[in-house]
Amino acid sequence: MSGQRALVTGGAGFLGSHLCDALLAEGWNVIVIDNLLTGRRANLAHLAKDSRFEFVEKDICEPFDVGRVDYVFHFASPASPVDYTQHGIETLQVGSLGTFHALDIARKYNAKYLVSSTSECYGDPLEHPQKETYWGNVNSIGPRSVYDEAKRFTEAVTMAYHRYHKVDTRIARIFNTYGPRMQLNDGRVVPNFMKQALRGEDLTVYGDGSQTRSFCYVSDEIDGFTRLAKSGEHLPVNIGNPNEFTILECAQRVLKVTGSRSKIRYEALPPDDPKQRRPDITKARELLGWEPKIDLETGLRMSLEYFKSAVAQ
Ligand code: UDP
Repeated sequence: MSGQRALVTGGAGFLGSHLCDALLAEGWNVIVIDNLLTGRRANLAHLAKDSRFEFVEKDICEPFDVGRVDYVFHFASPASPVDYTQHGIETLQVGSLGTFHALDIARKYNAKYLVSSTSECYGDPLEHPQKETYWGNVNSIGPRSVYDEAKRFTEAVTMAYHRYHKVDTRIARIFNTYGPRMQLNDGRVVPNFMKQALRGEDLTVYGDGSQTRSFCYVSDEIDGFTRLAKSGEHLPVNIGNPNEFTILECAQRVLKVTGSRSKIRYEALPPDDPKQRRPDITKARELLGWEPKIDLETGLRMSLEYFKSAVAQ
């Protein structure tokens, strides 16, 4: 990878910034393009003095060109329910226009391409666990549709560029990921619970807390991306942790790890909130030899210092 140039759209985001670290460690030169709608400069501050790293503040919904690149990692998009609800139009635009532009760069420079898609493509799934071959159960007009349909469209454009223009593409379907650099106020369950527990506030469990999610620690997730990036698989691959927890169990783990005495407060369940989510990762296991290593409690402990300092700011 030495001397090769990777473009990371959305590289100032939580996942994008961790990906940059991994690519630099592999010897890539990295250029990030991000409009900072939900990403943060602080996520990349530690790279400011690295001569192999470059940051461009720009919206990829406008055509752009950053010169020759060897790999395009297309990670730009609001990703938390709070963020994509607040920025619904921008989410649809970056999933459509932004994806065309990212793919145009890959096509122009004959670069490889990997896009971050999502388990939201499965919607509120009727099959459990979710295999890549499941087509999903998505409400095309509900409040989540700005994200779900944007990402489904992203996958469609990606496959079209692969089929029609022979672009060397890959699609990672990401399941709930957590770890340091998550924004304290992005509304996702782990930062919400950590923040509330550390401040001694009630933990807000939506609904009765029986809905499930499968939480993947960020370093496992990034390991999955870098393995997929080197593979020749063009169809989607689930990258997530198959250990499934109810949201109530997640709250209990956070209370244990933080040692907090916060109580649990039940609040209304948001519309279209998926009831169950768990990846079938047989494909990633067989194809990439990938397996997540960090269980929820360990990952929460590894995130504790970050959340403590974020709460203190
Ligand atoms: N959730 C919760 N309390 C919170 C935030 C989220 O109970 O303070 C629930 C939410 O309703 C969902 C799950 O936790 O069932 C995961 O939500 P998140 O926003 O992290 O991501 P999602 O998987 O829904 O995209």
